[in-house]
Amino acid sequence: MIKGAPYNLKDRKYVEAIYDYPARELVLKAGRQSEKSSIIACKAIAEMCMIPFFRVLYVTLSGKQVSDFSNDKVHNVLMYSPFIRKHYYSGSKGDLIKRITDKSLSNGSHIAMRSAFRTAETIRGFSADEVIFDETQSLLTDNILIIKECISRSKYQWTVYAGTARTSDNPIEYYWQRSTQFEWLIKCEVCGHYNYQDETILRPHNLACTKCNSNIDVRNGIWVARNKDATDVAGFRLTQYMLSGVDYSKLWEKFQTYPITQFRNEVLALPSDAAMRPVTVDELIACCNPDRRNEVVELPMEGFTIAGIDWGTGTQSFTVLVVATIEGEKVNVRFAKRFPAGDPLKDLEEIINILTLMHVKVVMPDWGFGFIANEELARKLRDLNVFVAPVYYTAGSVEVPKWDGTKYKVNRTTSLAQMFSAIKKREIEFFNWNEFQTYGNDILHIYIDERHGIGRQEIFYNHSPDKPDDFAHALNYILIGKLLFSHRFF
Ligand SMILES: [Zn+2]
Repeated sequence: MIKGAPYNLKDRKYVEAIYDYPARELVLKAGRQSEKSSIIACKAIAEMCMIPFFRVLYVTLSGKQVSDFSNDKVHNVLMYSPFIRKHYYSGSKGDLIKRITDKSLSNGSHIAMRSAFRTAETIRGFSADEVIFDETQSLLTDNILIIKECISRSKYQWTVYAGTARTSDNPIEYYWQRSTQFEWLIKCEVCGHYNYQDETILRPHNLACTKCNSNIDVRNGIWVARNKDATDVAGFRLTQYMLSGVDYSKLWEKFQTYPITQFRNEVLALPSDAAMRPVTVDELIACCNPDRRNEVVELPMEGFTIAGIDWGTGTQSFTVLVVATIEGEKVNVRFAKRFPAGDPLKDLEEIINILTLMHVKVVMPDWGFGFIANEELARKLRDLNVFVAPVYYTAGSVEVPKWDGTKYKVNRTTSLAQMFSAIKKREIEFFNWNEFQTYGNDILHIYIDERHGIGRQEIFYNHSPDKPDDFAHALNYILIGKLLFSHRFF
């Protein structure tokens, strides 16, 4: 039941396939204010009813979006559906409504709803059968990859990615490209042409056939897969044209007033072209010293040599080690290495050898995934008088790095912005471009995006799941270390 009336799909036949299609992964790319949230809520509730002890983890951007989803979509369906009330719900009403972030049914099934605004720390370690990402376009790719681990021990391992289109580099677009890419094509009753949904079929008060310009009805369509081979991942695109009771003159007005990229994103769920990049390839090349090689060399004992490490998860990101010397304001990158997924202990041994040989004074690794590796690193380097200072990207208003006893908390966006600015000002020197290019690409993979943060619009840096950015973070940790420790050496 939705708003006191039975949920029905009479005018929206296209929704049936989304519920029924048997794929382990589902991608819902939808326009703004489409019914995607209702669909994923009802789908999750149906699964929880059908499968005892089924655990769903719903992840969206902010706490506000968690409570909106919980109250408007989940709670209302659970509370006002007589069937669910009768069969899936034991104790008092209070059991169902008590907690916003967690709801249980009497068959042992459960839905947990969480936000992942900047970090995934509170979600890591959770165990679920299905994970649903909502507002996927605004989630950090690295958080998505971490949270996906929550279903790794389940026999179901179902995933839903729901979101609005942004640029072609966005994670929602990455998952969409790997999906069946079902398009709802609208049939023209006059000439028989099947119309693809974009701005060319919109008229001031209706939709029209691109072949013969007759009126067409969005209900008269079929799903057609553009990528038939991708049977494991079902992808559906939902436009605002498809909403029941839609007023086409309002959409026409948007078409006349919105920038075309925004119209395509929000109304049509189509990606706009290239994203904005914080630095260009020319700016990177300008930082490369053609005479310098990427090599492990013994550096002077008295200098300030510092290393940054971005620990990989082994699946879609690899460990990257970077060693640099600090010479006044200038950062000279002397060595970089990407470790293919293999034997973490052997890698650690090699890293320690390199750090020792290059007389590294300070090591700045990332804190999250490298928790165990960092302890081992600190233990082995203690006798050599090397300081290990883990870095942890954190939320909100931390403008300067803060030590909390185990790690430095650093604002992710601010610190990365400072790194890009240092590159533009050529305060960083890399080795020759030929050897550097593979690491430079990690920087070029990063794009600038905007999202609605806590109460305001904010920019953030992201990358596509198939385009790593690990070197950029290892380098950023070095710059953070320069800021923190330079006074000890000069
Ligand atoms: Zn026609």
